[in-house]
Amino acid sequence: MLDNLQFDQKGLIPAIIQDYKTGQVLMMAYMNEEALKKTIETGKTWFYSRSRQKLWMKGEESGHIQEVKEISYDCDADTLLIKVEQTGVACHTGHYSCFYRDIEGREVEEKVFDEEVIYAPGKEGPAILFELYEIIKSRKENRPEGSYTAYLFNQGIDKILKKVGEETAEVIIAAKNPDKGETVYEIADLIYHLMVLMVEKEVELSDIFAELRKRR
Ligand code: AMP
Ligand code: ZN
Ligand code: ZN
Ligand code: ZN
Repeated sequence: MLDNLQFDQKGLIPAIIQDYKTGQVLMMAYMNEEALKKTIETGKTWFYSRSRQKLWMKGEESGHIQEVKEISYDCDADTLLIKVEQTGVACHTGHYSCFYRDIEGREVEEKVFDEEVIYAPGKEGPAILFELYEIIKSRKENRPEGSYTAYLFNQGIDKILKKVGEETAEVIIAAKNPDKGETVYEIADLIYHLMVLMVEKEVELSDIFAELRKRR
């Protein structure tokens, strides 16, 4: 691989560093042949600093090292792509990725969700929230007989609010119980009733997501 690589006139090759789990681009820095060799040998990323004119290991001062998971190169062999497990943050400004601004200078999403942790095999994801929201909306529109959700809408907002209060109290009681299952059950109950309230008030799931995002 080393022989194929196209180092530039100064003996450098750009290396794009990517989070191996999420694919988020973390940073770009230059390597020379020695930096690449050290990267391969040590399993940590090494670069060539053009300003300091020396090799540096990412994290040598900050402790924010990068453990190499995979090294590849592009079609014309003039760029490296290195997938890493990042300790701490990649950028020396404290941002997770160096690419934390859009072209207008606005900060963009900091850290891409580690989906593997959130939707590991066998773990349920948030899609059920959207399904449930649609079902609750259709119950409000159609009010089918025998539907508990339709019953709540028929009773009106005060009934819905009363249920939200009751379910909140049940979460509190359940959380005193060492059995986690009780808490899961009651939180699910509360979320369902909150979503009934959301449909009643025409609050969308995306309104809540946007509000949470704004606070980060
Ligand atoms: P570190 O490698 O994290 O210990 O940081 C040591 C020095 O390397 C910093 O003071 C910066 O000059 C430089 N540096 C670290 N991370 C980056 C980065 N993501 N992009 C450019 N320079 C960096
Ligand atoms: Zn190509
Ligand atoms: Zn290329
Ligand atoms: Zn940076």
